[in-house]
Amino acid sequence: MLRRRTLLTSAPAIAIGMGLIGRNALAAPAALTSETVLLPRKGNAARIVICGGGWGGLTAARYLREELPDADVIVLERNPIFWSCPMSNKWLIDVVDTGFLAHDMIAPAQKYGYTTVQCEITAIERDRKIVRTSQGNVDYDFLILAGGIRNAYDAWFGEDLEAAEYTRTHFPSAYIPSAESLALKNKVRNFTGGTIVMTLPPPPHRCPPSPYERACVMAWHYKTNNIPAKIIILDPKPQVAPIGAGYRAAFEELYPDIITHVPNAKVKEVDPYNKRIMTEAGDFDFDEAVLMPPHQASDMVFHAGLIGTDAEGKPTGWADMDPLFFHARQDDSVYVIGDSMGAVSPHFGHYPKSAHVANYIGKIVAGYIGQRVRGEEVAMRLPDNLCYMMVNGDPQEAISVEFTYEMGADNQVHQTQIDIDVRTPDLMKEDFVWIDGMFNDFLR
Ligand SMILES: Cc1cc2nc3c(=O)[nH]c(=O)nc-3n(C[C@H](O)[C@H](O)[C@H](O)COP(=O)(O)OP(=O)(O)OC[C@H]3O[C@@H](n4cnc5c(N)ncnc54)[C@H](O)[C@@H]3O)c2cc1C
Repeated sequence: MLRRRTLLTSAPAIAIGMGLIGRNALAAPAALTSETVLLPRKGNAARIVICGGGWGGLTAARYLREELPDADVIVLERNPIFWSCPMSNKWLIDVVDTGFLAHDMIAPAQKYGYTTVQCEITAIERDRKIVRTSQGNVDYDFLILAGGIRNAYDAWFGEDLEAAEYTRTHFPSAYIPSAESLALKNKVRNFTGGTIVMTLPPPPHRCPPSPYERACVMAWHYKTNNIPAKIIILDPKPQVAPIGAGYRAAFEELYPDIITHVPNAKVKEVDPYNKRIMTEAGDFDFDEAVLMPPHQASDMVFHAGLIGTDAEGKPTGWADMDPLFFHARQDDSVYVIGDSMGAVSPHFGHYPKSAHVANYIGKIVAGYIGQRVRGEEVAMRLPDNLCYMMVNGDPQEAISVEFTYEMGADNQVHQTQIDIDVRTPDLMKEDFVWIDGMFNDFLR
């Protein structure tokens, strides 16, 4: 397990209470040290600490308070607001506004009765059941890791952090809630013409259909505004997937002069300074780029020492957890939910790394912990998945993909996938119904 005992006194007299939102408020201590205790316990109630207040984390917080009304539920999150990645491609071309994506995190914390602390999670000491944060240490009975993904720029640049940071800031991927989304929107808006390269991460990665959706909405913007843009999608996969037929039809019928999809384009080398990218399908120069590096589980899973290994003993980059009950194999007081999760089935590998699945697993794990705290038998549940992807701006049309899961006779989870490849305005409408239901579920 990685242990960090950094003395945090370099942040003088940080007012701990300032980072706290939700139902608790603390007096600020004189200074923050490596042993500062954030939120000392007041009674014997079970304490569940959730690392990451995104789709999975906030859902789990809400449902834990329902399962265990006396429990002390604490969400640790670095961002001051909830930013929805779903719908953020549509926001690039103003189908929705910023207020649609950005949500207050105080209101749901107050409504459902959990505590949210704005802080950076820096280390996890499982032997002491402590999470170390930029605001002090929090102890737990159960821990939920819901940190989403990390951008593994190291796969491209090794230890060259300067190249990684240059790439992140100049060619943002905008796949993690952060200021990168705004930077990308400005880029899309200010582009006057030329070649844009978009790298797709190798699977498994966050929201597999959404990079193609991003290419479509950008292409629609350039087509509508007569901007002479070419978008080259560098895809490490041999074909477009999921919803391959639907996307191929959109590329060919709506954006034949704009989008080029290049299969088997696994990235070999990136030279961000000279705007050049070398792949197994050839080398490409670009004027602009959306460079998505490989994805891995969020840093906190690495901090907790819970990354899995493959048959050859190499780190998988994803959590090593029980495929049905979602606790870490090494430590059943720690659960991993959302995009950080590792493989769950030899038949299809990972659950889709989607908001729909993160929300579903957040609810399931809240139920599992509730049952354990109440001393009941834990009843296994499986999720499903549903994603709508916009491909046309006028008329607004979408395609979609649906996944269902069931236990097979081999005692493994099996997946059924249904692609809806015909683009229609009705699927756009269904997307809005879907997200409204989701926001109502854990944010409002
Ligand atoms: C462009 C785009 C479009 C998408 N469209 C869809 C869609 O239509 N439908 C769908 O189902 N899914 C969609 N997704 C996928 C969806 O956004 C993710 O699958 C989902 O957010 C995963 O939830 P999560 O809780 O695992 O991670 P997140 O929602 O990313 O939450 C993780 C949280 O942890 C916090 N965190 C991480 N590390 C730390 C740390 N060290 N300290 C403090 N806080 C930390 C982060 O700030 C973040 O808020 C899309 C994604 C993108 C990028």
